[in-house]
Amino acid sequence: MSRIVGIDLGTTNSLVAYVDEKTGLPRVIPDRDGHALLPSIVSFANEGVLVGAAARRQLVRRPESTVYSVKRLMGRSYEDVKEELCYFPFKVLPCEGIVKIRIGSREVTPPEVSAIVLKSLKERAEAHFGETIEKAVVTVPAYFNDSQRQATKDAGRIAGLDVVRILNEPTAASLAYGLQRIREGVVAVYDLGGGTFDISILRVKDGVFEVLATNGNTRLGGDDFDRALVVWLLDDIREKHGVYLGRDLEAMQELRLAAEAAKIRLSSDERTALTIPFDAFTYHREITRSELERLIERLVDSTLAPCRMALADAGLASADIDEVVLVGGSTRVPLVRRRVQELFGKTPHSQLNPDEVVALGAAVQAHILAGGITNMLLLDVTPLSLGIETLGGIVSVLIPRNTTIPTNARELFTTSVDGQRVVDMHVVQGERELAKDCRSLARFELSGVDPMPAGMPKIEVVFLIDANGILQVTATELRTGKAAAIEVKPTYGLSDADVERMVEESFAYAEADVEARLLIETRNEADTVITHVERALAQGSHLVAADERRAIVEALDALRGARDGSDRDLIREATTAMNHATEHLAEIMMDAALKGALASRRAGEIMEK
Ligand code: AMP
Repeated sequence: MSRIVGIDLGTTNSLVAYVDEKTGLPRVIPDRDGHALLPSIVSFANEGVLVGAAARRQLVRRPESTVYSVKRLMGRSYEDVKEELCYFPFKVLPCEGIVKIRIGSREVTPPEVSAIVLKSLKERAEAHFGETIEKAVVTVPAYFNDSQRQATKDAGRIAGLDVVRILNEPTAASLAYGLQRIREGVVAVYDLGGGTFDISILRVKDGVFEVLATNGNTRLGGDDFDRALVVWLLDDIREKHGVYLGRDLEAMQELRLAAEAAKIRLSSDERTALTIPFDAFTYHREITRSELERLIERLVDSTLAPCRMALADAGLASADIDEVVLVGGSTRVPLVRRRVQELFGKTPHSQLNPDEVVALGAAVQAHILAGGITNMLLLDVTPLSLGIETLGGIVSVLIPRNTTIPTNARELFTTSVDGQRVVDMHVVQGERELAKDCRSLARFELSGVDPMPAGMPKIEVVFLIDANGILQVTATELRTGKAAAIEVKPTYGLSDADVERMVEESFAYAEADVEARLLIETRNEADTVITHVERALAQGSHLVAADERRAIVEALDALRGARDGSDRDLIREATTAMNHATEHLAEIMMDAALKGALASRRAGEIMEK
């Protein structure tokens, strides 16, 4: 049985989990320092690529080359995201239906950035099991459309992971609870993370998890709470200090981090203080939970309409919900909990850590796929309707939203012009009547149709959605028996050649990434030595001769110089030389300290007597 891990590829944090064979329960895999959450942040430093906490430390220092919340850009076009771009300090450019991120002279796509996060989790799992991991179940918001799912699969391929299943996050959450608590009944999973909101209604019966309806908003989450607070702080700073910091990238990053930290504190405290030292002044401000609630109330309330729509789609009233499950870091906000409780009239489940529950569910699904669990089955649904554009730009829906997947549908179409040899097919996704208001998924031509009067050809269009929610479309002209099946390439997304190139590049960069980490570690070591020597000089420079003092200062200057460069050997040599130059001083100081300690002990002994 080949091992499959479960991965929650989150907007803010990502995790990897597996099912423990002994207990049969899912567990997250922590990193070497015991942290389960890997911040979904990638920093492209000159020396190489940093990921996770190391990248987060670069957010303020290198805002233009540190990429966060990339999930918001996955599988989306420039048009889709252009209104959000003002919040990103890094450069996002349009590129053939998708976007690219420009970092210095390098350009990367969102799946490449996500792949770096996935690779780090893959390596974490490999270190845990001591074996190569090649397969994963990766979760996405239920509301992700086809191109966003494709982009997620591409990210897996670039990272060297076969994404054996794309799983909806809320479904994953209910699976995680399902193992332990939910036996039977209708479950609402309310998932509010950093960048996305999802609501799903599921029925659990005899080990079968059937998704009845999903809804949500791919542009709503805790990041928006942070922004609301940042906007408020910007106004307050302008009022108090007469400056507008909205265009200062570094200051904005500081503000964003401080706002998020204050928001998190306000989940447990009634009030908190913010202190941010800027170059020209230090900003200080107290904020209460009710002030924050006023700022985010509109955003929190906007999650309720999708909940009601999902209930209506499932043909249920809120009283029919037996259990409510909370997922995502933002469900820790007390106002969110209150609103959910008011809507469903139930105290939500919160026994499992809302940060981990999706990854735990992904691990359960991975275990089911690997054959480890046989008494559970998952029936997921497609979140948006899929159809074909027909005459006059009207959409003919082949697969309505909330259809259980995998599924297929077929429909016959014909031509509208005499002698038409080529038929344009336009595949769209969405709930609107007109194709122009829906998302364009793919366009293709069925050519070589025998010329016939309008209305005569019989063109059969078949839609097939696999268990990952990914669509394949084929079209065939039946009357002539000449079948011309066409494979659809998504309008948005990466070509196979792109993905291959990225896989190669990720290998090419792997070495540079290791080198970057080593350089940073060597620098950290040098920093520690520099701090120690500075302290020793301040305390004990009078204990050594002028020559020796000069030698120490010279070695210190050399080490500082080397530390700021990127030659690792040079830094190491300078560190060794520094240690050498201070050996004698260290001995004298140690002696002095010992003598001091002895003297005070003697004094203590005398006092005791
Ligand atoms: P997720 O995407 O599920 O990892 O959720 C991340 C979001 O949850 C971010 O916006 C965090 O700021 C937010 N978050 C995490 N912990 C808390 C907390 N204790 N209170 C409020 N928001 C939180």
